[in-house]
Amino acid sequence: MTTPLLRIEAVEAAYQRSIAALHGVSLEVRAGEIHALLGANGAGKSTTLKAVSNLLPAERGQVTAGRIVFDGHDTGRTSPADLVRLGLVQVLEGRHCFRTLTVEENLLTGALGRSARRSEAAEDLAKVYAIFPKLKGRRKTLAGLCSGGEQQMTAIGRALMSRPRLLVLDEPSMGLAPLVVRDIFEQLRRLNREEGLSILVAEQNSTVALQYADRATVLDAGVAVLSGDAEALRQRADIQSFYFGEGVAAGARSNR
Ligand code: ATP
Repeated sequence: MTTPLLRIEAVEAAYQRSIAALHGVSLEVRAGEIHALLGANGAGKSTTLKAVSNLLPAERGQVTAGRIVFDGHDTGRTSPADLVRLGLVQVLEGRHCFRTLTVEENLLTGALGRSARRSEAAEDLAKVYAIFPKLKGRRKTLAGLCSGGEQQMTAIGRALMSRPRLLVLDEPSMGLAPLVVRDIFEQLRRLNREEGLSILVAEQNSTVALQYADRATVLDAGVAVLSGDAEALRQRADIQSFYFGEGVAAGARSNR
């Protein structure tokens, strides 16, 4: 067995010291895999991803027990900026772009964190445009004027400019048309298969996520209730029940 790239070990997390959001969540992302984190609104997906990137303190949240290890580094003891330099790069929910910068300027900010040389940044930029050709045509357009899909591609492109080893994505499909979602997931899978990029992706859209993921973990009310091969999870009728807030009990009932 190889050591996983990311190990989340029995993590408990809370906001403002009293609002519990995660209850003993454990999961592993193996090097070279796409791992989907599934669950309904409020299940704890974003909290898990923010814990991974040590971004909870910025929201008055904290990991209160357990730990998270990325490639031998305890993420709770590593600054978010250092995690990016180590190759752990997150695309936050809501396709965060600098709206008053052009698409290309947005992309270039991704190279700043690792102090890339100009030639390296140009090389990476060409690569992002090869992955998302639509962005090339929009390179001089202000990100705020782009479509939702183009903004999501810009946010992902910026993350790629940081040369991640583990790309962490929070609901990339949110608010986007099915064809755009498919296009984005196709490109993510290509990067995964051709370059070995490891991916942890939180999604409410379980159908799409399970189609592209190798393995998945389902969260329900801050608890990891299921984990396994995406193929096997695709066959389970009760997965959908987690998305309508019916939880574990309803899932078990529908399985009888
Ligand atoms: P969504 O898809 O709606 O983002 P999620 O699965 O990502 O859902 P989280 O955002 O992680 O879920 O929320 C988990 C729990 O933590 C919820 O009960 C939520 O209300 C709470 N929570 C999230 N962010 C905060 C915050 N900044 N302050 C207080 N509570 C929060």
